[in-house]
This record gives sequence, structure tokens and C-alpha cells, in this order.
Amino acid sequence: MLVTGPRGTKDILPEASGNWQYIEQVVRDICRLYLYKEIRTPVFEHTELFLRGIGETTDIVEKEMYTFTDRGERSLTLRPENTAAVVRSYLENKLYADTLLNKLFYIGPMFRYDRPQAGRYRQFHQFGVEALGSKGPAIDAEIIMLAVQLLRKLGLDDLTLYLNSVGCPQCRPIYREKLQDFLREKTLHLCSDCQSRFERNPMRVLDCKKEKCTEQTQGAPHIADCLCDECSTHFNQLKSLLTLAEVDFILNPRLVRGLDYYTKTAFEIQYSPLGAQSAVCGGGRYDGLVAECGGQSTPGIGFAIGIERILLALEKQNLLPVISNAIDVFVAPMGSDMQGIAFKLLCKLREKGITAEMDFMEKGIKWQMKQANKYSAKFVAIIGEEEAAQNKVMLKNMLTGVQELVSMDEVQQKIELDVEA
Ligand code: AMP
Repeated sequence: MLVTGPRGTKDILPEASGNWQYIEQVVRDICRLYLYKEIRTPVFEHTELFLRGIGETTDIVEKEMYTFTDRGERSLTLRPENTAAVVRSYLENKLYADTLLNKLFYIGPMFRYDRPQAGRYRQFHQFGVEALGSKGPAIDAEIIMLAVQLLRKLGLDDLTLYLNSVGCPQCRPIYREKLQDFLREKTLHLCSDCQSRFERNPMRVLDCKKEKCTEQTQGAPHIADCLCDECSTHFNQLKSLLTLAEVDFILNPRLVRGLDYYTKTAFEIQYSPLGAQSAVCGGGRYDGLVAECGGQSTPGIGFAIGIERILLALEKQNLLPVISNAIDVFVAPMGSDMQGIAFKLLCKLREKGITAEMDFMEKGIKWQMKQANKYSAKFVAIIGEEEAAQNKVMLKNMLTGVQELVSMDEVQQKIELDVEA
């Protein structure tokens, strides 16, 4: 137990952390380009926020939350997603007072008690954006473009964008009834989850992945046929904006959420080479959520992308950049008496911004040269008694093999000249 992490968690080891930093950098660059600003909220929130903000009939709330009681008898939950927390923060910090449209992004760990498998973890990471304040379809299109551009920039081309509209509290009840009429005689053939969804949240039956449920829902009525004028116009405008932006999409009437605060646009991006866990991005509009959380009615839209899935995809397609860990100089003291002088040089070089390392293991020169090679050091600064006596070092250029005796004060200059060249 002591040396085994909890099931469904993963360490990001030093050799992999560069890949994470790379993805995070691309994310930050894209968000800067689109003017989305970072928001960092706590990893735990009051449980009530998620009950309201995600919905009590969802799988996340019914089966997947890490909920605990703290020492003050409060029920807290490790965030299973971040939209509700962003909305909470937006209201608590009155972000609406600063600007009409808040464009926010986050990157961080989420927690769900899910069955772990490749691409599915109990602690995983999401990058997500939320735009709060605009009800028009242009912001929906912008958010989708941000996701598409990010995935393309990372080199992922085999993307499929699925699109649907889930209507609004005006038109959805009409559809809900139509769907229930369609499903009524089939309920016995549905899985037990879907049998209970039939009354509480029938639209969720449509996105059940179990084969018998997909079979039973063949030929189900489409919500597109029930949309009110406002929802239908919004959806048509979004489709033309995406066409103008030259983004292909596939209409998928099964893409549903079914809770009152989810409205209009729902979308998902799949990367098919990932197989079973091919969903890399899920998002949609939630015009009722801010009011559900106690604020003034405010439209919102967002998405979340799973970073582990992106990483898997990039690994699979060999798209991860080769990260160079080369250092400028390895300082090699010959004998423990030289450690002090070596350390002083090391500090001086680092202060000047030169990537430098030295031998902390008090090993011989042979081992140190091997070490320098491991670090792909451009130079090795050897300090023996003779060199030290003259306040000099033997500077070896590891590429050319040329060695020269240079004064301590010149080391930095020599290295910089070479690095610049
Ligand atoms: P969701 O919040 O369920 O819409 O998920 C958004 C994205 O997060 C998905 O498309 C996945 O890429 C990712 N994701 C969701 N659940 C997990 C999980 N348990 N492990 C890894 N990634 C996940």
C-alpha cells in the first residue's frame, strides 16, 4: 500500500512532465490568441454546488463523486468537472461587474470514481474554457474554433466534430414527451440505468452506450424537429458560422444532456484512433446554470478537453516534440578539495543564466565525463589543483574535443560566445 498509488491515479514522472508542459504551453498560447484568461479555483467545493451544477440525475453525481465530510461536518467534494466551480467563482467574485463577457480558461485535475482503463482515470486533467455573458451563436462558434484550432495545432487531424441542439426549457418538454411516447413500450428492453432515466431524464437514454439501448432508440424522434424558433435560428446561425470558418461537422441527434440548464448547442470532438475512449472534447451551452447557482440569469457556454486523452493521441501518432535537456556546461572538480571552487563557479554561471550542473556525488573524472555526456553538456569545466592554483579551469568543448585553459572570469564569456554561435 505504502508504495502503491490509489487505483486510477498516475504519477507524471520527470521524463513525461516535459510533454505535459508542452501541451499546457500550446493551450496557453491559444487562449492568449482568443483572449481567454486563466482562472484557478480550489480542487474541492461544497457538495451542494455539484448536485445543483451538474445535476442529481447524472452519472457523475449518482455514482462518481469523491465526497467526504470534513472535521467541521461540512460535506465537500473533489471537483469532478469545473464548470460549476467557475460559475460559483464568477458569482462570488462578481466577475460580471467588470465586463459584459467573461472569457475564462482552466487547466487542472478532476476526480471521478470511474472504472479505470486506458484513457479513463480517477484523477485526470482537463483543460476547459467558459464564456459567460453572450447568448449569440458567434461565441458558440468561437469556442468550437478554439478547440479545433488547439487540436489541429497539436497535429491531430483525424478529428470529427459532432453537433446538436438540445433546445431550451420552452421547446424541450415537447420533445421530452414525444421521446417518452416513443420509449414507453420499449422500457423493459432498456438497461436498468435507462429504465430509471425514462422518467427522470429520458434524453439521456439516447446517449447510453449499451448496445441494447442503442438498438431500442433506433428511429427515435429527433429534437431538431421540435426546436422553437429561437433555438432553431440559433442552431442554423451556428452551422453557417462554422461553415464560414471552414469547419466540417456532423449532426448527431444523440448528443444530449437533458437537464434544464443545458440549452441549445451541444458538441463533442472525437479522435477516432483512440478507439473506446475517442471523445477528447465535450461542451455545450448552459444558459440556465448561472441562475440555478443563485445568480442573475446569464448565458454561458464552454467545453472541457481531457489532457490524458490528448497525450495518448499524440503518443500514438508520434506527435510529441523531442525535448532537449542539453546543458551548457558541466563543472567537474577533481577531488573533494576542489568542490568549493567548483561550486563558486557553478553559482556564478547560473546567476548569469547559463545552464550548469556539477558533480555532487564526489566521483572521479571518468564518471564525471560520462555524466556530462548524459546531460549533453556543450562544455565541461575541469578544475584540478593546477588549474585552481592559477585561478583557471580547463574548458573542454564536447563537440570539437578542443581543450583550453581559461581564467575563471572568462568561462562565462567563452560559453556564451559558443551558445550564441
Ligand atoms: P466530460 O466532462 O465528461 O464532458 O468530459 C470531457 C472530457 O474529459 C472527455 O472528452 C475526456 O477527454 C475527458 N475525461 C472525462 N472523464 C475522464 C476520465 N475519467 N479520465 C480521463 N479523461 C476523462
